[in-house]
Amino acid sequence: MKIYNTLTRKKEEFVPIEEGKVRMYVCGPTVYNYIHIGNARPMIVFDTVRRYMEYVGYDVNYVSNFTDVDDKIIKKAIEENSTAQEVSQRFIAECKKDMADMNVKPATTHPQATQEIQGMIDMISTLIDKGYAYVVSDGTVYYRTRKFESYGKLSHKNLDDLEAGHRSIGVVGDEKEDDFDFVLWKPKKDGEPYWESPWCQGRPGWHIECSVMSKRYLGDEIDIHAGGEDLIFPHHENEIAQSEAANGVTFSRYWMHNGFLNIDNKKMSKSLGNFFTVREIGEKYDLQVLRFFMLQAHYRSPLNFSAELMEAAKNGLDRILTAASHLKFLEENAKTEELSGDEKEKLQESEKFIQKFKDAMEDDFNTADAISAVFELVKYINQNTNEDSSKEYVEGLYDVLEQLCDVLGIIVAPKEEILDAEIEEMIQARQQARKEKNFAKADEIRDALLAKGIVLEDTREGVKWKRA
Ligand code: AMP
Ligand code: ZN
Repeated sequence: MKIYNTLTRKKEEFVPIEEGKVRMYVCGPTVYNYIHIGNARPMIVFDTVRRYMEYVGYDVNYVSNFTDVDDKIIKKAIEENSTAQEVSQRFIAECKKDMADMNVKPATTHPQATQEIQGMIDMISTLIDKGYAYVVSDGTVYYRTRKFESYGKLSHKNLDDLEAGHRSIGVVGDEKEDDFDFVLWKPKKDGEPYWESPWCQGRPGWHIECSVMSKRYLGDEIDIHAGGEDLIFPHHENEIAQSEAANGVTFSRYWMHNGFLNIDNKKMSKSLGNFFTVREIGEKYDLQVLRFFMLQAHYRSPLNFSAELMEAAKNGLDRILTAASHLKFLEENAKTEELSGDEKEKLQESEKFIQKFKDAMEDDFNTADAISAVFELVKYINQNTNEDSSKEYVEGLYDVLEQLCDVLGIIVAPKEEILDAEIEEMIQARQQARKEKNFAKADEIRDALLAKGIVLEDTREGVKWKRA
């Protein structure tokens, strides 16, 4: 399996640290609003990477964080006359809902920054002890960037080259030793959430959380660290500086970055106002269409979003789903059970599409070519089945199609019907779990309902539900 590694700017053969296992960390969203379709891109592409790794037999430990303390969250809380915690908890729940609708598997662990403060204090203390960080008079702790000799190795930037450009915009703070030093811990301002620390009452900088959560849940050395390409510098560069200085070993062997999602060929951004939330797209399309749309491009290429391209993706996906339901129909109406000799050969021949699919995925997860292999299989199915096909034959073809689509996170089976009574029963069980303060179980029930397309809403009048 080959992976393009941002660190070496080459496609490299994937060799895990521990045989058969993958330790993978993906930087997750800052939760102050509904996620937009740009945020959805890393979720979808790295979920697909995970699914493929699992398909070929790896045991994947997949960690993705929620940044739940940040200026934007605090600003939103002030605007709403609410608290940062309330805002982040609400949008974590909304984000999980969107992820389920896009068939993104829950991570093995979804840590939250505010639950990991002690780990951050410990790592910052280690960095101070080793001379990689320093405290100034107001209690701010900075990372001493120049001390980390290989700083810039991921983004292929050289500090001295950067300096010329940087000086003109940056102002060296009174006590900051150098422009490139970044914040590890900062003092609280009025009305902001804060934690006690040896340096001041305050909160962590952004970069330290990922170093700490990755260490806690995956260990000092991991296989893959991933995120959008905007994170290469400074976020991931700073994570490397923190982790490698603190732990004394290579942080991550492979660094993967997805390209950006643009809208009508312009950069999609909140400030330009040209963005769509996943929720908005979900009102118009089944979110499988969004997933399929994203996977039709290579994950490292920029991807343009437009109404026409979404329609094209919908039509493409429909071709696959139609082939699957056609096979189901033939299966239910088959006149013979067992494979004929000719069918046996044809079923074997269909395996060449699996090989083609795998070859594409082994080459740095080329999902565009993998989808072409699925289309070829669909064509083969359409040309080689009819009402005389045996049950075993159409079942065999269905298995191949379902298997490949599952790697892409596309569900070909018709959505399972769930009865109203069953839903009510699960809601009761969730209420009971909440009463017992078993929130993990309550969340599990909510997620299980979501997977069946049932959305819960907690209102003053009680729990309401609707079919998504
Ligand atoms: P943020 O909430 O801004 O920290 O972003 C969460 C994740 O979404 C990061 O991995 C970003 O790189 C990624 N991301 C944000 N905007 C886009 C976009 N327009 N296209 C692709 N990825 C994006
Ligand atoms: Zn991160």
